[in-house]
Amino acid sequence: MPESAKKPFFDLDFDSLSSEIAEAGLPKFRAKQVWEAVYEKKIFDFAKMSSLPAALRERLKQRYAISAAEPVGGKISADETGKRLFELSGGGFVECVILEAPDDESGGIRKTLCVSTQLGCAQGCKFCASTARGFKRNLSSPEIVSQLLPFAEGGRFAFENIVVMGMGEPLANFDNVMKALHIINARFGFGAQRITLSTCGIADKISELASSGFPYRLAVSLHGATNEARDKIMPVNRRFPLEKLIPAVRELAKASGRMVTLEYILIDKINDSFKDADELAKIALSLRAHVNLIPYNTVEGLPWRRPSPQRRKAFFNALKGKNVSCTLRREKGSDIEAACGQLALVTERAKSAENGGEFRP
Ligand code: SF4
Repeated sequence: MPESAKKPFFDLDFDSLSSEIAEAGLPKFRAKQVWEAVYEKKIFDFAKMSSLPAALRERLKQRYAISAAEPVGGKISADETGKRLFELSGGGFVECVILEAPDDESGGIRKTLCVSTQLGCAQGCKFCASTARGFKRNLSSPEIVSQLLPFAEGGRFAFENIVVMGMGEPLANFDNVMKALHIINARFGFGAQRITLSTCGIADKISELASSGFPYRLAVSLHGATNEARDKIMPVNRRFPLEKLIPAVRELAKASGRMVTLEYILIDKINDSFKDADELAKIALSLRAHVNLIPYNTVEGLPWRRPSPQRRKAFFNALKGKNVSCTLRREKGSDIEAACGQLALVTERAKSAENGGEFRP
């Protein structure tokens, strides 16, 4: 059976797997063995599950695909930001990047895996490569979970945190993303406090999370501290202006008891004035939120530029001067197109050129 016709393994809950095993005429404990092989030992190839009888390995292999997103390449930048590109069984590419940052607690390096949730994106943020070819489709929950698999080594994941911040807006693919996070948290045992969902500001869904007991961390891509600034670069602000977004974020922070992060990409002469810093400080202090300042990564074909190092530092100091909890991210991965959605876009362009200008995934 071709891989694309097989059922995704991650769609199976334990009861369904047990039924599959019973149907094969095998004892119940075999289901537990398969479950533990995938979720505890992190073996993602049925052929390598040596504790199973050969006939069961073959049966599972014929019927199920563990990975729904196959790595097709990857780049390691000079500063060791690793990025992998995946080809989805249904066609199209998504990317996944490991970001490295100093860990204040351990004094070592903290690795964070950034995963994608949609093919393209409909939100239209003006500075973002993911939106350049529009929205194609939502990723299924197995396609989201599969992005973790190539980063498992010796029964462990080679990263400490996950941030749902790659291509796509996670809250526009709500059900699949929640299901994927549940698999990662409840089945793989990856702690909820180590998972962050990042949204461009879909306020009604943030309120839904607040009332449903959202256990993970939330980051909001603010990128502008006034409606005027956000309107210039983020069309979502017309649907959910700050007077809707900020109360929803406050509601979630209160319900979860977790500190929210405000992501803020610093773009030259768009959102980097002292007045912007003042407005951002007011919002951050009112939410008791942490601000993560990210120098913009230039995207080919887009007009935006990152501010000078002096201007970035001045913006950071202005926030610090107002006692805002704040970090200024060191530039990582700019040599491997690490801005959101960039690697997939470059690959799509290369495919497009191969296909005589028409993009066919
Ligand atoms: S920044 Fe995020 S929400 Fe905005 S277009 Fe890019 S992927 Fe979509």
